[in-house]
Amino acid sequence: MLHERLEAVYDNVLRRNAGETEFHQAVREVLESIGPVLGKHPEYAEQKIIERIFEPERQIIFRVPWEDDRGEVHINRGFRVEFNSALGPYKGGLRFHPSVYLGIVKFLAVEQIFKNSLTGLPIGAGKGGADFDPKGRSDREVMRFCQSFMTELYRHLGEHTDVPAGDIGVGGREIGYLFGQYKRITNRYESGVITGKGLAYGGAQVRTEATGYGCAFFVEEMLKARGTSFDGRRVVVSGSGNVAVYAIEKVSELGGVVVACSDSSGYVVDEKGIDLDLLKQVKEVERRRLSVYADRRGAGAAYVAGRSVWEVPCEVALPSATQNEITGKDAEALVRGGCVAVGEGANMPTMPEGIRVFREAGVAFGPGKAANAGGVATSALEMQQNASRDSWTFEFSERRLQEIMSDIHARCLETADTYGMPGDYVAGANIDGFRRVADAMLALGLI
Ligand code: NDP
Repeated sequence: MLHERLEAVYDNVLRRNAGETEFHQAVREVLESIGPVLGKHPEYAEQKIIERIFEPERQIIFRVPWEDDRGEVHINRGFRVEFNSALGPYKGGLRFHPSVYLGIVKFLAVEQIFKNSLTGLPIGAGKGGADFDPKGRSDREVMRFCQSFMTELYRHLGEHTDVPAGDIGVGGREIGYLFGQYKRITNRYESGVITGKGLAYGGAQVRTEATGYGCAFFVEEMLKARGTSFDGRRVVVSGSGNVAVYAIEKVSELGGVVVACSDSSGYVVDEKGIDLDLLKQVKEVERRRLSVYADRRGAGAAYVAGRSVWEVPCEVALPSATQNEITGKDAEALVRGGCVAVGEGANMPTMPEGIRVFREAGVAFGPGKAANAGGVATSALEMQQNASRDSWTFEFSERRLQEIMSDIHARCLETADTYGMPGDYVAGANIDGFRRVADAMLALGLI
């Protein structure tokens, strides 16, 4: 149930953004948490901060024409939603996936507002992408697409204006092509205009690993708060992309045993623990399907096509693929299988029914806004290094990431306590993230 005033805000969001279901879901989740804040801070309601916060500052939609290797012309649609710049330049990744439409970009951008605020770093929020599918495309095709995409987007970017990064379908290769085209068009070597760059041209140590590592650090903190650890625990990670691979790496270093991971076609179970070198070879070097991992790994590993990885029992679950991948039924299966902690590496991977199930079962639940904030936090550190033309060591950067995750964890718990919802990381993350942006918006006047 929503506070009466918030119900009206939500109705308005539904009416003004028809059909954008993921966006509605993301807004509702925040509204469900912030009721108690309004009682303590009537100034937010007086200045219509809540109404303002859910209306993007700017939305850009554009045509992306490009030519494939056979000379055939394709037309995709590009997006950039610049949602909130009260705390700093718009900051958030680009997603290239056939499912991308305005509702997905807006849900991701709205998550980014509160996540970026939660990091305590000076970054506003945005998100973008295109309904382009890089799967099966040659490097040259991906390059041509990225160049066409940036030929429109560049005019909206700048190190003090809007700073994109990667997301699904946008990794180091794509960031390189995007940055190359930006540099060419503007005739400026403006390193801070995009993050997730390669180490050879202004990238930061630990940015590639940051989201996955950060998620593992966050879950470690949740386990510690309950007097336990990863040691010897059975872990399942969904996805096998950037976030998943480095979550698996750090969890294994922290003593957990990752027994399964997935892609959009199915999952692999490997009871001895996922072989990380093999996984990286198949996914990062060869860009092949996860089934190839199982074929090469031989006895002990099995590939299960077309089913959900959440049927594999585990003590810790790290959903790191995409939105709405854990249904209420998946959550029930996880609880039955002995799951005690969930850390969202992906954005909004758990459906509202799933969150309810975890809450009722007393599972420690770290929402994406908090648990995957390490990626954007390390992007902000990349911007800091670019601005000072400096580059930090891997060890120092990883230590900074760990401190940031531990600080976010502590603030979520503290805020949840203050507002009478002890142990509720969802409420803690939403309220803490909301308050910092709301205070900045109040201070900046009606803009
Ligand atoms: P990648 O493209 O590197 O990997 C995505 C993985 O998820 C792949 O294994 C992919 O499988 C799987 N996947 C994607 N879409 C679907 C789908 N519709 N159904 C099932 N599986 C799917 O992306 P990232 O690892 O960068 O991103 C994963 C999640 O983490 C996203 O929710 C993203 O928003 C979030 N995130 C990413 C950050 C980053 O720094 N990269 C930062 C914070 C959050 P397949 O190859 O078969 O498509």
